[in-house]
Amino acid sequence: MSPLATDVLVIGAGPAGAAAARAAAGRGLTVICVDRRAEIGVPVQCAEFVPMPLLRTVHETDSRVQDVEGMLTVLPSGLQHHSVFPGMMIDRARFDQGLAELAQAAGAQVKIRCQFLAWDGEVARLRCGTDEAFIVRPRLLIGADGPHSRVAKAVGLPHQQVVYTRQYTVPLLRPYADTDIFLSDAFPGGYGWLFPRGPVANLGLGADRRFEDNLKLPLEQLHQQMVERGIVGESVLGRTGGAIPVGGIRRMVHGNVVLAGDAAGLTHPITGAGIPAAVISGAGAGLAAADYLAGDEDALESYAEDMQDQFGPALARAVQRRKSLEAVWRQPAAQEDRVMRSSWIAFDEYFAA
Ligand SMILES: Cc1cc2nc3c(=O)[nH]c(=O)nc-3n(C[C@H](O)[C@H](O)[C@H](O)COP(=O)(O)OP(=O)(O)OC[C@H]3O[C@@H](n4cnc5c(N)ncnc54)[C@H](O)[C@@H]3O)c2cc1C
Repeated sequence: MSPLATDVLVIGAGPAGAAAARAAAGRGLTVICVDRRAEIGVPVQCAEFVPMPLLRTVHETDSRVQDVEGMLTVLPSGLQHHSVFPGMMIDRARFDQGLAELAQAAGAQVKIRCQFLAWDGEVARLRCGTDEAFIVRPRLLIGADGPHSRVAKAVGLPHQQVVYTRQYTVPLLRPYADTDIFLSDAFPGGYGWLFPRGPVANLGLGADRRFEDNLKLPLEQLHQQMVERGIVGESVLGRTGGAIPVGGIRRMVHGNVVLAGDAAGLTHPITGAGIPAAVISGAGAGLAAADYLAGDEDALESYAEDMQDQFGPALARAVQRRKSLEAVWRQPAAQEDRVMRSSWIAFDEYFAA
């Protein structure tokens, strides 16, 4: 059978892919957006916090669960630091589904149970449902397939460095308007978090596997501490986890292949926040695709430069802070508040030269 022709093929219908599909379809291109999942956004692999600048997208997707006012950072000594950090807790499955619906409304075809397998520079081979060899010939391919991007691998990029996470959803025993962050040598290469989500909370942690392979034990200890403080209940209502890229921006344009979101390494290497960058880069990639296919030869490189301008400095600082921390994990210095303050975004020291 001859390959199916389309202007743009988007791999992944997460925030980056759906935003890309929406933007490209909105400019009149034919767009196919595929995701290997059986249901968009499910299972949720996220702590579900987004900052205020994403308000419009949260409204558009009807995914707001509760507002967040600030961030409470708990240092190794137990000292607490409160900062104003407004944002929202979202229903991440609803957020992703809403974005995919907006892409469809703009004219994109969204296909689930459809896995990207290979790219030979001209055609993409996919497995869609029972169709073992669904072949698509796009004029442009967008890789928005997350931290372990197969598209990035197909264009020759090595695996990116990731932090692994584990998260429980637990009952929250009282209303709460802050995101709590726990900095400790118990979570080397990452941190612990308690994010309120109405009557429940997402309680999780991330760690670098080179320093801590067993995430279950520290998470159970963190859970127990929260139970003893009367903040959350004993039961575990849900479990999830996943990988977070922490290596910084990768090369985003490879001929007529463009990367966005986690696949492009746009997630913040210290906080692990990646939803805003995924939405922004996805939309940027979709618009750049339209300009490029309309004859603007520089459009894709302009997209990469724009992303570098928007995210590059913050990501470079975060990568550098991670590197400094790598020297101290499992050393006495990792127990010092001073060291942790210089490595977390809530403190002025983090932004010092
Ligand atoms: C535990 C955890 C907590 C987090 N908490 C937050 C948070 O609170 N706030 C925040 O901003 N960020 C958070 N992040 C990061 C955030 O989830 C990501 O940065 C964001 O999902 C990136 O969006 P994306 O569209 O690039 O990738 P993804 O959301 O990963 O979407 C990629 C999509 O591609 C699909 N896919 C993958 N491979 C293929 C293939 N071969 N073929 C077809 N489809 C494929 C996947 O099924 C997936 O749907 C968290 C991450 C984790 C793991």
